[in-house]
Amino acid sequence: MGFVASIRPAGRVKGPSWCFAFSGQKIVVEKRNERISLPLSHDPHSFGLDSPPIYLGALNGVDCLAGEITEGRELPETMTLVGLRQLFLSVEEDLYLVAGRAFQLVEFERNHRFCGKCGAPNQDKPNERAKICPNCGIAVFPRMSPAIIVAIRNKGRILLARAPRFPEGMYSVIAGFVEPGESLEQCVQREVREEVGIEVTGIRYFGSQSWPFPNSLMVAFTAEYAEGEIRVDQEEIEDAGWFTPETLPRIPDRISISRKLIDAFLKEVSSKQ
Ligand SMILES: [Zn+2]
Repeated sequence: MGFVASIRPAGRVKGPSWCFAFSGQKIVVEKRNERISLPLSHDPHSFGLDSPPIYLGALNGVDCLAGEITEGRELPETMTLVGLRQLFLSVEEDLYLVAGRAFQLVEFERNHRFCGKCGAPNQDKPNERAKICPNCGIAVFPRMSPAIIVAIRNKGRILLARAPRFPEGMYSVIAGFVEPGESLEQCVQREVREEVGIEVTGIRYFGSQSWPFPNSLMVAFTAEYAEGEIRVDQEEIEDAGWFTPETLPRIPDRISISRKLIDAFLKEVSSKQ
């Protein structure tokens, strides 16, 4: 059945619900014997949600609610706060995907309480995940930023680069946000040119992933090296190079689409050997 998104429950909420409660950038979790799990609760207000919860939909028939608690509020003893990334490494994939969705919708709720044009308090738009200004009629939708991510291949090697903000020793594929007026393919070419100074060809769609750090929709591609020498700008990228499966550096976690791109490259190379 998986996750079925909806802006309101199909019937009365019955049974316990998955509760995605945030305090700033962190999420409330249950912690027993060092094991982290998401709270499944009959009463989402028991750990102090500030406002009526946002209905997200149902995961395998279990309702999912999201909300916010005041920063600094004391939690029940069995509960604690963790960052989303830590949660992603601790719970099942279907739950962390809903957590990513919850995080973005709580943020949308927090940041769009008033109309950006006239300042009147916004209302929920009926039948749609959006806010509308009752005064001037402007509707706003949850913010999403499309970004490209691309694995560039060159004769059994893959281009990986390192940004200064990465954990020590980690390299990944090239990524960047799409600019207004640009197609995804143009964005791939521009980002690659800007970050590593080379030209690519044969750009092919690979897959996509919602990525809540923050509000990104990652659209992944593969591409082939065409021409040019690697040249890094030393600001966004501090080092880049061609790697074979044997010389691969530390790469991102299994949850990211960057890792899926790198894994697909490894599989392809090994199938040719
Ligand atoms: Zn307005």
